[in-house]
Formats: sequence, C-alpha cells, structure tokens
Amino acid sequence: MENIQDLLDRTAAFSRTKTEGGAPASYIPELARADPALFSLSMTNFDGETYSSGDSDSLFSMQSISKVAALCFAIETLGRERVFSKIGMEPCSEAFNSIMKLEMTSSIPLNPFINAGAIVLVEMLNERFQALAIAEIMDFFSRLLGRQSRNALHINEGIYRSEKRTADRNRALAYFLHNAGTLSGDVEETLDLYFKLCSIEVNTADLSVMGATIASGGRNPASGTTIMSLDTAYIVLGLMNVCGLYDQSAEFAVEVGVPAKSGVSGGILCAVPGRMGLAVFSPPLNNSGNSVAGIRALADLSRELKLRGI
Ligand code: GLU
Repeated sequence: MENIQDLLDRTAAFSRTKTEGGAPASYIPELARADPALFSLSMTNFDGETYSSGDSDSLFSMQSISKVAALCFAIETLGRERVFSKIGMEPCSEAFNSIMKLEMTSSIPLNPFINAGAIVLVEMLNERFQALAIAEIMDFFSRLLGRQSRNALHINEGIYRSEKRTADRNRALAYFLHNAGTLSGDVEETLDLYFKLCSIEVNTADLSVMGATIASGGRNPASGTTIMSLDTAYIVLGLMNVCGLYDQSAEFAVEVGVPAKSGVSGGILCAVPGRMGLAVFSPPLNNSGNSVAGIRALADLSRELKLRGI
C-alpha cells in the first residue's frame, strides 16, 4: 500500500492547481495579497506523527478556524450551559456575516461558527478573563495546536490592523447584538479581541494537530496531554459536521463527509473521529468563502483513506 507521505505528495501535486473560479478573500485588504499559488496539506495521526506536503512552511491567519479553538476553550472554562445560553446550535443557510437571520429571529446567533455567534462567545471570554483574556486564550490555543509555549504563536499585526480598519460588517453585527441585549459589554473591546483571534498565524501542521486532538476526544497526540473533555469534543465535532463550511456545509458533507471548519484565508481543518487530523491551505476561495483546491484535496483523501468508514 502507498505510504502516507506519498499519498499526501500525490494529492498535493494534483490538487494545488485546481483553483478554477476561486480568488483570495479581498474584503479584508491584507488577505487579498496572499499568493494564490500556495498550497499545503498536513495529516497528524494518533501516535502524534505529522506528515506534510506542499508549501508547509507557509503561515496563514486562522480566521474562522479560530472559532473552533475559542469554542473548545469557552466550553472548558465557562461550561456548556453558559456558552449556549446566548448562542444556538443550528446550521445557518446565510453567509457567515449575515445580519438578516438575527433580525428575523431572536437575536440569538444560530451557532458559534458564524461571526455573530463567535463575537458573543468572545465577549463571554473577555468578561471572564478581562485583561488576561488574550494571554489565556493564546495559551490554550498553543496547547491545542501542540506548540511549545504561548510565545510560539503570533498575531499577524498587518492582518489584524487591516481587518480592524475595514470591519464595518462585523461592527454592524456587534452593535445590532448590543442593541438587542445579547451583548452587554464594550463592543469595540470585544471586537478587538475577536480580530486578534482571527489573525493568529498557523501552518497546516499546527491545524492537523488541532484536528487530531479534537478527533481523539480531547487528547493532543503530539504532547500526550488532555486538552478538553470528551463532551466538549462531541459538541465541537457535531457543530463542525453541520456548520463548518458556511452555507456550503451540506455540500461539503456530501463531497468529503468529515467534521471540518474553514476560514477565509484559505485554510480548512478536519477532525476525523477516531482516526486523524487533517488540514489544507490554498488561498483561492469559492463564493461561499471556502478554499477551492482545499475541498478538492480533501474529497480525494476522503475516498482514498475511507474517511467515512466505507
Ligand atoms: N475575520 C473574518 C471576519 O470576521 C473571519 C471570517 C471567516 O474566516 O469566516 O470576517
């Protein structure tokens, strides 16, 4: 049988140019500068071994993938009841930054992976940890990703500032939520923390370790330490299954069929329960905000590795 490194190399070589119709996100000006030809793919197994192929040294901002890590941390520190007192658990058929659903329903964001839900989550963490929030969150992210210390993770200042400067849409969402009483703290302070989390830089190896940690039920296979409870992993896996790829989540379930979360910098994180973590990065996005070549590579790997079990 072909070994895993050869399989990743073959998949990367085939998929990296399959970006037709895609373009890097441009609504955050700094993201538009990404090299559209970059491609990286990584896999981490439960022995803690990570395999990578392509431009695996490339760093990119987590964007919405940070919402998965923030959710793990929030459930672990605040508890499930508190987190889901102001955020729902249902998929969203609108865009990730849509304001429409909030106005039509109860001002409770549908899930923690759309922007409105993540902003509410970030306010809860900010309220709990105050001035220490960013340090505590980055410390948790470092452990989840298998980095050695919190200093090893960095915020990309250029992306952070670019997003903060141009985030009218997220400001509109947050002020709407504040007006409705779902948010009660300082909106700009909450948004600042949200932008910082979106701008944390990672590579696909980091994300594949994070995927393996969630897929194993909470144990980071690289460090051997338990990062979250099995119950937290179940919640996160469930939401990744139904809300992980914006309004393309159902199609992704058909094409790939594993719990995943994408971000607008072109990354996709996958947690294959009981099997492995996978991550891919390629900046050109489709209309839903998902990496075109990334989905292609994951669909191929899903079949080759029988990630659906069949
Ligand atoms: N920072 C991005 C925003 O808030 C994250 C979007 C995403 O990756 O889905 O618009």
